[in-house]
Amino acid sequence: MKIKSEKFPDPKELEKELGEFLSKKFGGQVKLTTPIVMPHQSRSDTVEVPVPEPVDIDFDLKPEQLIDYLDQYIIRQDSAKAILATKICTHFNRIRYRRQSPDNVGEMVGSIKNNILMLGPTGVGKTYMIRLIAHKIGVPFVKGDATKFSETGYVGGDVEDLVRDLVREADGDIDRAQYGIIYIDEIDKIASAHNLVGADVSRTGVQRALLKPMEETEVDLKVPHDPISMLQEIERYRKTGERDKSTVNTKNILFIMSGAFNGLEKIIKKRLSDQAIGFSANVAKIMEDAELFAKVKSEDLVAFGFESEFVGRLPVRAVFERLSDEDLHAILENPNNPITLGKKLDFAAYGIDLSFEDTALQLLAQRAFQENTGARGLVSAVEGALLPFERRLPSTRTKRLPVSADAILHARQWVERLASGDEDQVERKHFDRARQQEQSRVARYIGTYKDRYAQKYSLPLTRERIQLLALYYCDHALDVDAVIETFNHYYEQIKAVEIQFLKNNAINIVFEEEAVDFIIEGWIRNRKVDADAVFRQMSDDFQHGLKLVREKTGRNRFFITRQALNAPEEFIRRLLVTPVDMHPPVSSALNITDARERKPES
Ligand code: ADP
Repeated sequence: MKIKSEKFPDPKELEKELGEFLSKKFGGQVKLTTPIVMPHQSRSDTVEVPVPEPVDIDFDLKPEQLIDYLDQYIIRQDSAKAILATKICTHFNRIRYRRQSPDNVGEMVGSIKNNILMLGPTGVGKTYMIRLIAHKIGVPFVKGDATKFSETGYVGGDVEDLVRDLVREADGDIDRAQYGIIYIDEIDKIASAHNLVGADVSRTGVQRALLKPMEETEVDLKVPHDPISMLQEIERYRKTGERDKSTVNTKNILFIMSGAFNGLEKIIKKRLSDQAIGFSANVAKIMEDAELFAKVKSEDLVAFGFESEFVGRLPVRAVFERLSDEDLHAILENPNNPITLGKKLDFAAYGIDLSFEDTALQLLAQRAFQENTGARGLVSAVEGALLPFERRLPSTRTKRLPVSADAILHARQWVERLASGDEDQVERKHFDRARQQEQSRVARYIGTYKDRYAQKYSLPLTRERIQLLALYYCDHALDVDAVIETFNHYYEQIKAVEIQFLKNNAINIVFEEEAVDFIIEGWIRNRKVDADAVFRQMSDDFQHGLKLVREKTGRNRFFITRQALNAPEEFIRRLLVTPVDMHPPVSSALNITDARERKPES
């Protein structure tokens, strides 16, 4: 599709404008000397601008799928998860539906976007949740801070900058950026405080400045008066004769605002008490903040200091709860949490394996809770506890770091002990225990989501296999999805060995699930994946024998058990003697059928 652009400005004018700009800025020290060569003007005096075909949003997620995804990472916040997942799913499904329908249904005049307001204290998962959602949906995401906004000029970057940042996040793909998510934190700081004069005018001004982008406006990609973006444009035009599509429309960009809203609870409480008499009024007095926030109405937000037009553009509200010390502990126990995973990676970069004992996670959660900054306290607690180890151990021969409560409480002694290498045995014992506890935590976690993973990867998840996955996790500092994906990849390689064996020998071998695990366990323990070696081994051990069995019995399909891999000769001998025995038990036959029909999730 092509559209006509506006007339390109006269080159002489442009040159003059740029020259003036440069001399104003650099006082004549910098001059424009590059001859600006303009392309031939087309006869109609207009330029044909190629516009990329719209990207089809590949989006068919249902709210429950998104909630299920969030559950894997986010502790608590069930109500916020449900609201955000549902409204964001609907937002993108609505866009997809509109784009796919031939007659443009749904383009209603005045239809309202589901922009979202999130209320809740710091460090409880607001940003994390939006980041996860944007990642899952595959749309660009940027975060800004309302306190940096200024309505005039160019002080700390404004909302238009965020729109431009979205384009950057989308690798320059404007079309994709137009379906991005802009997240603005600390929005409560631009509420006008009624007892303040002066600052208020600008806060209300910032709210007003946000109104248009939140609804629909065109944002120029080129920063006005920025010589670099002007030069880039000229250069591009010189080379291609085409102009960039240079504006981003914000109609489909989802705006999410958040804040702690200290003091709002009093406004809500007062309204509830004024409205009700007797019993309900008393109930309002003893409600928790999160419960009160859940009852927020537009009028409360107006009383808090927002313009009603601004509130009206945030029709969806989600309340985040404060996290308890048990919640913080649950976050650390979740093998997908980026805090402990990040630390494992940091130490892995120095060749040190790190594992946390249960006692360490408990202690760290308690310490974090005392900081009163939600899960953010976890980051500082973990960093603080590990710093002495991180500073000293990389320059020693230490290869394993078991983190227990004792190690955290007596860091200096532990660091010296580990560094000296004298107590290798003790160290190993502690490390094995930390490892084992870590493995159990991961196995428990995968067990909880077993059905989900089994369905997603079409991978039968037996207890033994879950243990194996947990073992892999402990060694690799990857999140659980990445671990299962890797395992699945190994699984495919083993299936490829079966196919290769069939091609080479016209004999159909099928590895039992336990045999698959046996092979993969070897790969994990030796840290070497080698499907070719498995194929060679299979050829050496089974090719000749199975051909014999085929000649003798006419059978051509063999189920390879773990035992067969360990003792191939015995396996063949028994096949020759009692061929009937070798039919697989019903349960494993089912497994095999399962495996054969595996279809990876698209
Ligand atoms: P905020 O609510 O201030 O936006 P964040 O979402 O940035 O807080 O939280 C900081 C970090 O703490 C996240 O990156 C995440 O690792 C962790 N975190 C916060 N809340 C949760 C939660 N409910 N479940 C799991 N992890 C969380």
